[in-house]
Amino acid sequence: MPSLTVVVPAYNEAAVLETFHDRLGRVLDELPLDGNVLYVDDGSSDATWPIIEGLMARDARTGAIRLSRNFGKEAALTAGLDHVDADAAVVIDADLQDPPELIPSLVEQWRAGFDVVYATRTARAGETGFKRLTAALFYRSMERLSDTRVPRDTGDFRLLSRRALEALRQLRERQRFMKGLFTWIGYRQTAVYYLREPRQAGNTKWNYWRLLNLAIEGITSFSTVPLRLATWVGVLSSLLAFLYGLWVFGKAMLLGDPVHGYPSLMVVILFLGGVQLLALGVIGEYLGRNYAESKQRPLYFIDQEHPPRVRPERGHR
Ligand code: UDP
Ligand code: MG
Repeated sequence: MPSLTVVVPAYNEAAVLETFHDRLGRVLDELPLDGNVLYVDDGSSDATWPIIEGLMARDARTGAIRLSRNFGKEAALTAGLDHVDADAAVVIDADLQDPPELIPSLVEQWRAGFDVVYATRTARAGETGFKRLTAALFYRSMERLSDTRVPRDTGDFRLLSRRALEALRQLRERQRFMKGLFTWIGYRQTAVYYLREPRQAGNTKWNYWRLLNLAIEGITSFSTVPLRLATWVGVLSSLLAFLYGLWVFGKAMLLGDPVHGYPSLMVVILFLGGVQLLALGVIGEYLGRNYAESKQRPLYFIDQEHPPRVRPERGHR
């Protein structure tokens, strides 16, 4: 029987974890697969870890990794996926916004030959209009700026085949925009549609500041258009400055020049200063990425690791 590991990053999810595990367990029971679960406790400060320990004691299919501190969802996901040894892996949020009941549909597409099956939401229940607007804006700019097509309205909820997983594991970059990386590896990818529910309990860990940073990360990780933009603006403005300079010079030669050039001088200085700052900012953005990359730090550290007591090969229903 093929095996499947469900990777669940959890950061302070004590309020939902039990419910989540029950629902997921019921789904796994029904699947004609050797299913198990791998929780990644991303340095939670609430009762998440004791709850996971309880789940492990109760359900032999449960494994867990505890990171040494909060590394963020992208690193937690990477840690989980690095420890999967199964024919396929499913990535799912612990807060029940991604319904575990959709997993059979993902599996179905995988059995039909797809390597990456992502879940795309058709509606965003429980999210404000502003959140929806900013999300739409992000996907649109990502589509225009980058060659990597990040599918719209798609989170990290997806299934990866073994070879997709192995490809993903080779991407060790530090700035990890997972949605982009999932797409970048290629292979046969398809979508399954579902209705995204509001979070069951607890609070979202994303505020607008973190989301904005994620968006910048996504764009700069997969696009060099901002760099080129700075070049274009620079070229255009120096061209304009040159033409303006010619005009000022010609005027001074033909008509002479009493000292009234102060305003135009200021305008030029301010304008060029602004353009230079903009270019410097963009260069700084990429320099920062180079810096982070050159440090070659490990992506995470594990505090404790507990593989499921039932190994997939042995076949547990
Ligand atoms: N998460 C994590 N580390 C973090 C933040 C979040 O592992 O630093 C997990 C969290 O427990 C949940 C998933 O990532 O399972 C998605 O988080 P959240 O629901 O806060 O994000 P949203 O659904 O609002 O995008
Ligand atoms: Mg959520």
